[in-house]
Amino acid sequence: MTLTEKDNQYLWHPYTQHKTSQTPIAISRGEGALLWDENNKEYIDAIASWWVNPFGHSNKFIADAIYKQLTTLEHVLFGGFTHEPAIKVAEKLMEILPKNQQKIFFSDNGSTAVEVAIKVALQYFFNKGEKRTTIIAFENAFHGDTFAAMAASGISFYTQAFQGMFIDVVRIPVPVKGQEQVSFEALENVIQQNNCAGFIFEPLVQGAAGMVMYEPEALAKLITICKENNILTIADEVMTGFGKTGKTFAMDYVSEVADMMCLSKALTGGTIPMAITTFTQNIFEAFYDDDINKALFHGHTFTANPTGCAAALASIDLLQTDVMQANIERINKSHLEFQKKIENHPKVITVRTLGVIFAVEIKSDSEESYYGSMRTKLYNFFIENGVVLRPVGNIVYILPPYIMTDEQLQKVYATIEEAIEMV
Ligand SMILES: *Cc1c(COP(=O)(O)O)cnc(C)c1O
Repeated sequence: MTLTEKDNQYLWHPYTQHKTSQTPIAISRGEGALLWDENNKEYIDAIASWWVNPFGHSNKFIADAIYKQLTTLEHVLFGGFTHEPAIKVAEKLMEILPKNQQKIFFSDNGSTAVEVAIKVALQYFFNKGEKRTTIIAFENAFHGDTFAAMAASGISFYTQAFQGMFIDVVRIPVPVKGQEQVSFEALENVIQQNNCAGFIFEPLVQGAAGMVMYEPEALAKLITICKENNILTIADEVMTGFGKTGKTFAMDYVSEVADMMCLSKALTGGTIPMAITTFTQNIFEAFYDDDINKALFHGHTFTANPTGCAAALASIDLLQTDVMQANIERINKSHLEFQKKIENHPKVITVRTLGVIFAVEIKSDSEESYYGSMRTKLYNFFIENGVVLRPVGNIVYILPPYIMTDEQLQKVYATIEEAIEMV
């Protein structure tokens, strides 16, 4: 049996209707921005394997750090114990995070990082004896697949089976260009009509919605409104963190700071699942009490796994090198040139770029759904041409590993141009 046949016998894949989906491609190795399948066909990974891998596949520097940690202390429980890798990650993050972030809490993935932030927002007010139970989120947001994260997410077919079982979430429109005022007013209204505890948002770029972008000034205004109303703000930087937007964090563009930040995906360079939620000292103090019931009773068995910490440290080291910063700039310049080249094409609706993130909306004759026929046609065309891209409906986006070469990038662009002609 081939790997694909065995997979079909045993495995259940994420976001997959197995009855109608195509068979998965079995990947046997990766190096840099490239992947090879079991038949040795080569693919360019133009989405950094769901946005986790900025420094390339099978990165030796991170692998060495992991090996060293695995043969020193692979894991120890974090209840009642601590270790140097966790402390080093905290110290490193304190250097690069906005200055108001003072405490870090480890978990395992983006959804749990969000779950922790939402629970903390709710318990913060509970501990203070204030009744605030509503969370504000953006329309079409994506914050993950655990229950609170799902409740805050707005992509309906992910969550429709669970309607009515969620914590209270109210949604406001994203302040995209020209719609800022609508978004500000919606936030004011929601605050008047609910007892709001927190506002969670993907800063500047809504990833899963199709790389929808909005301006830092608009986000600063929304945060200001929250601050005036004593509502905690949560920047979900799971996708945007660690260089994707051209700065270390998307919040680095914003003149206001958030109370909490959620990190995962590129945190360990795409090697070991790990996540972190960060907090202000003020939030921590709402849980710091002689009363044990005011503690945060949340934890995961693998909290602060030392091997994950070693991977995170190596990844942040790589991010901070001049070479990597130059790569990010190079890719951004290249995207902007490609944007100029195609933005007036009759089949292009809009093009947008921020940092290494690039997205183009392609005109289609009919309204296409997320997994509509145009999406399938595009996806298959890219795969046939050896490029891994996962369009969101009619939106094709690129989020390359920072080490992608110019030649590889040009091949990705050329394939997208051909695809635009084809559909
Ligand atoms: C991917 C993502 C999540 C969820 O992360 P998982 O690791 O898949 O649980 C949450 N928020 C944002 C913004 C994401 O892009």
